[in-house]
Amino acid sequence: MIVARDVVKSFGDNLVLDQVSLTLEKGEVVAVIGPSGSGKSTFLRCLIHLETIDRGSIDIAGNSLARQHIDGSSEYPPEPEIRRICGRMGMVFQSFNLFPHMTVLQNIIEAPLTVKKVPRDVIIPKAEALLGKVGLLAKRDNYPTRLSGGQKQRVAIARALAMEPDIMLFDEPTSALDPELTGEVLRTMRQLAEERMTMLVVTHEMGFAREAAHRVIFMDQGRIVEQGPAAQFFHAPQHERSRAFLGQML
Ligand code: ADP
Ligand code: MG
Repeated sequence: MIVARDVVKSFGDNLVLDQVSLTLEKGEVVAVIGPSGSGKSTFLRCLIHLETIDRGSIDIAGNSLARQHIDGSSEYPPEPEIRRICGRMGMVFQSFNLFPHMTVLQNIIEAPLTVKKVPRDVIIPKAEALLGKVGLLAKRDNYPTRLSGGQKQRVAIARALAMEPDIMLFDEPTSALDPELTGEVLRTMRQLAEERMTMLVVTHEMGFAREAAHRVIFMDQGRIVEQGPAAQFFHAPQHERSRAFLGQML
């Protein structure tokens, strides 16, 4: 579903991604872990074109989002093509980014109505089903200010799912939550994983990475230092830096 090859990204003279390569298979759940500032968010943002890459290539579900030009630089297709390709992915951020002036239901139906032109009578029952799935149907007509952080994040997940993505990207979806609220969000994510959603999840939740992810990628200083099956990574990390990181986290 995702093939990224040798992705290079700098902000000014700060090299943030240094030849990062990743493949994500259909139905696979991959956890990306690593210290703050290692480039995890930037990598996700490049995959969904919130940032452009300097070098390397990115394919999404067989479509070329960025291809490596002969001189090494990366070329992008025209804007409508980029939107079409990136429309196959949903993203959930650390900060929930709900529209504050819209109810929970309106938040969920907004993009399907305006971007995908899905009829109201089709999207409303679907949004209600998604709210049921994340356990928030009773909050249908509430405004986000009335919700807890965990509830907001579950609405954000439902909102992303309403666009029927093939791939879900999560950037530390529980980091802004009080500890007692992380469980309900992680449960929703586990449920998605069990339904075989293809997921790339940046997380500090080592329990989630160990139990829900098929594979773990450890990044440090803009590079993938180590990757492997979750069980192997947590049981016997190969690199000194992975061991040091896990030592701090566990
Ligand atoms: P992580 O998510 O692993 O904590 P980030 O991808 O957020 O790491 O950041 C990696 C590096 O890129 C950091 O040094 C950060 O300061 C820098 N960075 C991220 N976004 C920007 C930006 N928009 N402009 C300049 N520097 C940035
Ligand atoms: Mg980050």
